[in-house]
Amino acid sequence: MKEILNVEAIFAENVFTLGKMKERLPKKAFAEVKKVMGQGGELSLATADVVAKAMKDWAVEKGATHYTHWFQPLTGITAEKHDSFVAHPDESGKMIMEFSGKELIKGEPDASSFPSGGLRATFEARGYTAWDITSPAFVKEDATGAILCIPTAFCSYKGEALDKKTPLLRSMEALSEQAIRIVRLFGNTAATKVTASVGPEQEYFLIDAKKALARKDIIFTGRTLFGAPAPKGQELEDHYFGVIRERIGAYMKDLNIELWKLGVTAKTQHNEVAPAQHELAPIYETANIAVDHNQIVMETMKKVAGRHGLRCLLHEKPFAGVNGSGKHNNWSITTDDGINLLDPGDTPNENVQFLLVLACILRAVDKHADLLRLSAADVGNDHRLGANEAPPAIISVFLGAQLEDVVRQLVETGEAKSCLGGGTLQTGVSTLPDFAKDATDRNRTSPFAFTGNKFEFRMVGSSDSIGSPNTTLNAMIAETFCEAADRLEGAPNFEMALHDLIKEYLTKHQRIIFNGDGYSQDWVEEAKRRGLPNIKSMIEAVESLTTPKAIALYEKFGIFTKPELESRAEILYENYAKTLNIEALTMIDMASKQFIPAAVRYSKTLADTVIAVKEAGADASVHAKLLQEVLVLLCQAKEALSALQKAETQAASIANAKEQAFAYKDAVKPAMEALRAPIDQLEMIVDKEIWPVPTYGDLIFEV
Ligand code: ADP
Ligand code: MG
Repeated sequence: MKEILNVEAIFAENVFTLGKMKERLPKKAFAEVKKVMGQGGELSLATADVVAKAMKDWAVEKGATHYTHWFQPLTGITAEKHDSFVAHPDESGKMIMEFSGKELIKGEPDASSFPSGGLRATFEARGYTAWDITSPAFVKEDATGAILCIPTAFCSYKGEALDKKTPLLRSMEALSEQAIRIVRLFGNTAATKVTASVGPEQEYFLIDAKKALARKDIIFTGRTLFGAPAPKGQELEDHYFGVIRERIGAYMKDLNIELWKLGVTAKTQHNEVAPAQHELAPIYETANIAVDHNQIVMETMKKVAGRHGLRCLLHEKPFAGVNGSGKHNNWSITTDDGINLLDPGDTPNENVQFLLVLACILRAVDKHADLLRLSAADVGNDHRLGANEAPPAIISVFLGAQLEDVVRQLVETGEAKSCLGGGTLQTGVSTLPDFAKDATDRNRTSPFAFTGNKFEFRMVGSSDSIGSPNTTLNAMIAETFCEAADRLEGAPNFEMALHDLIKEYLTKHQRIIFNGDGYSQDWVEEAKRRGLPNIKSMIEAVESLTTPKAIALYEKFGIFTKPELESRAEILYENYAKTLNIEALTMIDMASKQFIPAAVRYSKTLADTVIAVKEAGADASVHAKLLQEVLVLLCQAKEALSALQKAETQAASIANAKEQAFAYKDAVKPAMEALRAPIDQLEMIVDKEIWPVPTYGDLIFEV
C-alpha cells in the first residue's frame, strides 16, 4: 500500500516546542520560561534544573544519547561538541542519565581554535556558550545517533561576541526598543515589542557525488577551479521552474521531511535558472530563529544529498559562466499587536506612519550602504556581486511605481495627495478570472527591493550565514528610528515636525532609489554621478566595518564594541587569504598532477600518430597541427603554473592580514585565472578519454 505522509504529525516532531514545554513543565516553571522568552532576563537555577530534566527526558525518548551547545562561530557555519547524558554510576553500578540546569544554560567549550581576530589570546582560551531561550532546542538525527541541540550564543571570557548570534540578538533588542518609540508617536500604546522577521530563499546545486569526488577542486573548495563551458548552457531557459527530475524529486522529498521534523517550514521548491540548480524557501519567522533554521537547512541539504548519492554545492559560484547561487533575505518588522510596519495599506500616501518608517529605512540604507554591502560579502560572493548576473555591488532601493510616485510628490510638494492604484489585469480569456494587479511590478535586478510588505535584500551569498545581513539591517534602522524619535518626541507641533522630517529624509536620500535595470552599464555610471559607493570586492568592503560612522552606530546600541569590529575585520581578511590560498594550492595540484600530465600524454599520442601516418606515406599535417596547438597551450600552462606558484608563495609569506588579503586579490587571483585559461582550452581539444576529471557537461547535465 502506498504510504501517506502525515506532515502535520511529523512537523516539529524533533523540536522541544513551547507546546511540549507546557505539557512537560510544572505551571510555575513554564510561566518563568515564557516570561524570560518575552521580556529577557535569566532563568533561576532551580527552574533551569526543572527545564533541563524535562528537556532531557523528552530527548531521551527520541533516542538522544548526547547533548550539544549548538553555536555559530565566525566560520559562518555551526559548531557542536557532543557530551553524553551518561553520569557516574552509583555503588551498585547503576547509571542514571543526567542533564542539569547549569549544563543547559551555560557551556564552556575551549574556544582557542575558533577565529577570534585577535580578541582572545590562546592563553585565555575560555569561551562561553549561553542558551538562546528564544530559539527552541531540537534533536538532530544522523549517523552519530540522536543529539539534543541547544541553540546558544558564543562569547569570550570578557563577554566579547565570538559568533554571529550574539550581535544579532543585540540588534533585535535595539531595533525593538527604537521601533516602539516610533509606534508610540502614533498613539499605539498596546505594542510592547517589535520583531524583525526573515524569510531566506536558499539556492543550491546538486551534482552526482561520484563525479564530485573525482574533482579535487570540488572536494577542497566547493567549486570548480577549471572547466570549459559545456555545449549547452542555460540559454534555452528550460530549467527554471522546469519539471523536477525523479532523482532530484526524491531528494527534495527527503529534505522536506527532515526539515519539517526539525520545525523548519520548508514551503517552496523549484528548479532554478542554471542546470542542476534549485531553490528552497521556508516561511518567514523571527530573525534569530530564521538564522538558526537557515543553518539547519544548509546542513540538512548537504546531509540528505549524501544519502542520495548526490553532492550539494552551496558555493556562490560553483561553475564559471553558469548562474551562481544567492540567498534572498526577505525582511520586515512587526509589532507584537500584529502590525507590519512595512505594510503600506491600499493608500500609502495616507499612511503617515508607513511613510515615516520608509523614510527612515531609505536614510539608513543610503547612510550605511557600505555596511550593507559588506554584510553580504564573502569570498564566493565576489564572483557574483559586480559580475553580470547577481545584483550589482552598488546598493540601491527599488520601490516600485506606486511608492516612487508617493515619494516624488512628497519631495516636490511636501504632500502626497494621490496614489497610483494597481488596477485590474485583464487576461483576455473569458474563463479566466481578471486579477487585481499589485501596484508594484517585480524588479529582479535590484539589490534591495520593496516587495509589497517587506524588503528583499538580494545580495547575500548562498553559503553565507544570514546573521550579519540581519544584524546590519536591524542596527542601521534602529539608528534612524532613534534619530527620528528623538526629534519627534519633543516636538511642540508633532504634525509639522513629522511632515518636515519625512520631507527632509526623502529629499536628502532619494538618490538611493533606483527602479531601473540594475545590471546595465548606464546604472553604474548614473550611480557614480549620484555618489553611491560601488565596492567591487569583499576585502575592499571590509574597511567599512571600522569607520567612525560604523563604530558610532554599533557602539551606540551596544551591538559591537570597537575591538569586536576590529576583530571581525581581521577575520574577514584572514578568511579571504586562507580561502584563496586553498584555491591556489588546489589549482597548482590539479594542474601539475592531472592536467599537464594528461596533455603530455595526449601530445605523445599525437606525436606517435604523426610518425605513423608519415611512415605510412600519408599526409600528417592535420595531426601535426593539432600537436602544435597542444604544445603551445601546454607551454602556456606550464608558464602560468610557475607564475602562480611564485605569486602564491609570496602572498603566503605576508604577515599582515590586510596586506596579505590584498596580495591574494591583486596578485594570486589573476595568476589563477591565467592558469585556468590554457587548461580550459586544452580540455576542449584533448581526447575525452584522457581528460582526468568530469567536465561541466558531465557535472551539471548528467545528474
Ligand atoms: P519569490 O517570489 O521572491 O521567489 P518566495 O516565495 O520564493 O518568493 O520567497 C519569499 C520569501 O519571503 C518566503 O520565505 C516568505 O515566507 C518570505 N516573506 C513573505 N512575507 C514576508 C514578510 N512580511 N517578512 C519577511 N519575509 C516574508
Ligand atoms: Mg523564490
